[in-house]
Formats: sequence, C-alpha cells, structure tokens
Amino acid sequence: SGINFDKYENIPVEVSGDSVPAAIEHFNEAGFGPAVMENVNRSGYSKPTPVQKHSIPTLLANRDLMSCAQTGSGKTAAFLLPIIQHILAGGPDMVKPPAFTNGRRTYYPCALVLSPTRELAIQIHKEATKFSYKSNIQTAILYGGRENYRDQVNRLRAGTHILIATPGRLIDIIEQGFIGLAGCRYLVLDEADRMLDMGFEPQIRKIVGQGMPPKTARTTAMFSATFPKEIQVLAKDFLKDNYIFLAVGRVGS
Ligand code: ADP
Ligand code: MG
Repeated sequence: SGINFDKYENIPVEVSGDSVPAAIEHFNEAGFGPAVMENVNRSGYSKPTPVQKHSIPTLLANRDLMSCAQTGSGKTAAFLLPIIQHILAGGPDMVKPPAFTNGRRTYYPCALVLSPTRELAIQIHKEATKFSYKSNIQTAILYGGRENYRDQVNRLRAGTHILIATPGRLIDIIEQGFIGLAGCRYLVLDEADRMLDMGFEPQIRKIVGQGMPPKTARTTAMFSATFPKEIQVLAKDFLKDNYIFLAVGRVGS
C-alpha cells in the first residue's frame, strides 16, 4: 500500500475556521522534534499528503479539527504525529500517574483514539508504535473478543500514553477500573461515520461524557469520509466552537 500522490496534486481542498494555522508543505516545517522527524523519515514519508498538510499544524496548535477525507489519504499520521510530538514536548506533566485502589492499578492515557473495528485499531496501533519508536511513549490497544481480554489488560502495565480502542471494550475496561480518562488531553474519533453506522453513538457519548476532561480542556479531532447531519451534530457537541473544518476531495453527506 501507500499513497498515490499524483491522484492528490489537483484534489480540491476546503479549509475553514477562524485563524486557520498555515499549512505545511514539508514535514520539516511542522516544528517536530528530532525524535518525531527521525520516525517520519524512517517511515519513508517524503512529503505530507493534503490532509496531513493541514491537520498537522492545526493539531500542533491545539485547535480542534473536523476532517473529511477518503480512505487512504494519510489520516492516521495526520493525528498521530502531532499527538506524539505534544506528549514528547509535554514532559512528565503530560502524564497523569497511575492510581492504586484496592490493589488495582488504573492507567490514565494522555491520548485516546476511538476506532470502529478491531482491524482498524490494530492498524492505528501499528502506526503509533512505528512513530513513537525509540521514545518513552507507550501505546496500548483494546478491542473486543473473549480470548484477549487478560492479555490486553496485562499489556497496559507497560504504561499507556496513547490508547487505541473500540468503544464497547473500552467502556468495559473503564468499568473494571483499569483505565481512567481524567488525564486525556487528546481525543480522536477515527472513521466517525462508520462508528455511527455501527451503532456506537451511545457508547461514544458515554466515553466522552463521563470522566474525560471537558472539550475546553482537551484537543479533539474527528475524521470521517462523509459529513452527514449526525456527524455535524457530534462535531458540534464534541469540538470547541472555533474548530477547523477540513475537506479533501469530494465529500458526500
Ligand atoms: P487513511 O486513514 O486516510 O485511510 P492511512 O493513514 O491508513 O490512510 O494511510 C494510507 C497508507 O499511506 C498507509 O500505508 C500509510 O503508511 C501511507 N502514508 C500515509 N502518509 C504518507 C506520506 N506522507 N507519504 C507516504 N506514504 C504515506
Ligand atoms: Mg484511517
């Protein structure tokens, strides 16, 4: 796989919002530290895709983002790279230490990425591991399935800066006391339209509405291939009023 850049050179890009951060043309204009730049180069990414050109400076500036772009346009790096950069730059203050209650350890991720399916979660987790290579950042993954419950919980013990999860399993693990969202400064809803199609809206609202810092105290990014009414409503509820809207290519409703 990979990016067909020719397909994107002439693609229409719509960006709107107040004081939109300037787009980058090259990764070295983003202001990434050496650790992130090294991992970008190691990945063989020579230049940002259109969605990355706009999303990266937006999220680095801690502006909320509603991004509509088709599959294969490079959305994963568009949100992971700024989050990793923020965590590395934030130092120890960025990480809320685990709490111990009744012998059980609760971890507080700094960033939560919600994904509709296990397959997509695995893919995002792989990219997150790749982009945080040689750093102290720990990534963890949670998705449904009886056999992997214990393994997933055990792996949280390595530390959990970036958590990638499907909504149902995450609620389960929160209720078990293994994860708390009070330290979550970055929230990403990947393939938001698909999550709604799969009926996850109540779970998403529960996760975001209970225990997570309010939208004014976090940076939130939503990604979706389409922009129907239900996604617009979710964006209004989850994103700060001054969010940046980005549409790459033709966006259906
Ligand atoms: P999306 O989430 O929009 O469907 P992905 O983030 O999965 O897209 O990216 C699709 C593919 O393109 C992946 O294999 C990814 O590694 C690759 N890719 C992403 N950004 C770049 C880039 N700037 N240069 C080269 N390849 C890239
Ligand atoms: Mg994707």
